Amino acid sequence: MPLYTADALVLRTYKLAEADRIVVFLTSDRGKKRGVAKSARRPRSRFVGSLEPLTHVRVAYFEKETRELVSLNYAELVRSPLAATGDAIVYASYFAELIDEWAPADDPNETLYRLGTSVLEAMAEGIRAEVLARYFEYWLLRLQGVYPPHVVCHRCGDGFTGRSDAGAWLASDGVLTCARCAEGPLERYAGTPLSPGALAFLSAARQRGPREFGASVAGAVLLELETLHRVLMTRHLEREVKSLRVLREMRRVPHAH
Ligand SMILES: [Zn+2]
Repeated sequence: MPLYTADALVLRTYKLAEADRIVVFLTSDRGKKRGVAKSARRPRSRFVGSLEPLTHVRVAYFEKETRELVSLNYAELVRSPLAATGDAIVYASYFAELIDEWAPADDPNETLYRLGTSVLEAMAEGIRAEVLARYFEYWLLRLQGVYPPHVVCHRCGDGFTGRSDAGAWLASDGVLTCARCAEGPLERYAGTPLSPGALAFLSAARQRGPREFGASVAGAVLLELETLHRVLMTRHLEREVKSLRVLREMRRVPHAH
């Protein structure tokens, strides 16, 4: 039975038998795996503290071709989302759930793995979770081909950079169009209006890492992208992800103690 070691992101866990856990994790090199962590629910288990969603771990696991579940030998903590402050931990579950939804089993996806670790690092450095969420969603949608690879008008090639008049639309066929190229009355254009600020964010997300986003993104832009991404992701997954409800409830409750 071959033993593999890899860097991985924990996506979720659930109980198995009396004291074990099943761990779903995305490896950097061999895609998403599902494995048994023996005795993980015992208080002195070697897995304690390293199985929260979005934890970056170094794992060793045995894999048998005929078995669906691998056997986890250890999961050594590299970086924990628990180190971040505020609402970050709820967002960590949201990111982990989305990766789980998007990653098919055993299909190597290094880009998705790197996206996950980069937002985890940015979270630890204190980059706002709402900004990271929009960044993360942009990349997921782009990797799925929902967003076009370049943030330019599909007709005239305008890059939407710093033009205050460049209000644009993500049409239902998945292209971006600048206001000048949208023919006839704009309402005829079956798509979602995007403000110059939202386009500037998407353009920056395409070129920069998540740690390069400061607190400079306007709340209105984040809200606009959140609304759009929700529609695109729900359509793509054909349902809403579970952690969205938690995020919504968290917002509704005022932060009074
Ligand atoms: Zn155009």
